[in-house]
Amino acid sequence: MKLKNKVAIVTGAGSGIGRTTARTFAAEGASVVVVDIEKKTADETVDSIRKRGQNAVFVRTDVSKGSDVETMVAQTIQKYGRLDILFNNAGIDIAKPIVETTEEEWDRTLDINLKGVFWGCKFSLPPMMDGGGGIIINTASILAHVASPNQAAYSASKGGIIALTRQIAYDYASDNVRANCISPGDVLTPMAKNFFDSCEDPEERMKFFTDRYPMKRFAEPSEIARVALFLASDDSSFITGQAIKVEGGFSIW
Ligand code: NAD
Repeated sequence: MKLKNKVAIVTGAGSGIGRTTARTFAAEGASVVVVDIEKKTADETVDSIRKRGQNAVFVRTDVSKGSDVETMVAQTIQKYGRLDILFNNAGIDIAKPIVETTEEEWDRTLDINLKGVFWGCKFSLPPMMDGGGGIIINTASILAHVASPNQAAYSASKGGIIALTRQIAYDYASDNVRANCISPGDVLTPMAKNFFDSCEDPEERMKFFTDRYPMKRFAEPSEIARVALFLASDDSSFITGQAIKVEGGFSIW
């Protein structure tokens, strides 16, 4: 039980990496605030956690809206009395080259992926500090480190997350807050499926990307969740300000 008596917010917990991480945190003893813009899928996450006798509650939030995120944190404190872990994980990917990206698409990507992290940290840090410290984990992407076809807004948003995380780690280390990123490669989630489905030849694209991995496969969500657990627990007590690549060697050649 690595997270016994801890309270964790997981955003984007209605699907993919967020859902698996919410279940992993709950299984390790945390009370989990399951956050998503989609009620139906988030309810399914909560139900699956409660069925195992563990603690979870849903708070519907659009992470791009400051007032929503402020309420998300207030409801967490109201329900559980403290906040120890924030996993800013909700995100979208609009895969386009820059000349085809509209202003609306650029703004939406940056608002959800990067401003969502800003809001989460801004409103979570005060209660974390009141409680003696905390852990922030932000989901970046391997596309913050290397280029890939047609990912203009997405890669910019993820690069911003790494810089912001480093800054938070620096500014709040003396308040006993650690902040780190995870930079996943391709993970088998609905987001990845939607991306490949939108390609002209999904099978060819899957093969193109799979072949770029020395391990010749994509990640399972649990392989990201286990790293999130490591970063959320005392096992990583001297790690802060880092972007941990979890990408099967994608960027080593
Ligand atoms: P997913 O699409 O399966 O899940 C994302 C969740 O975020 C969904 O439940 C969605 O409803 C929610 N969401 C979207 N907009 C939101 C908003 N405005 N407010 C609150 N919730 C919102 O995707 P995933 O693959 O699990 O991705 C999770 C994170 O991992 C994202 O930040 C993504 O960029 C990142 N990532 C994914 C991959 C991959 O290959 N799947 C690779 C690298 C990074």
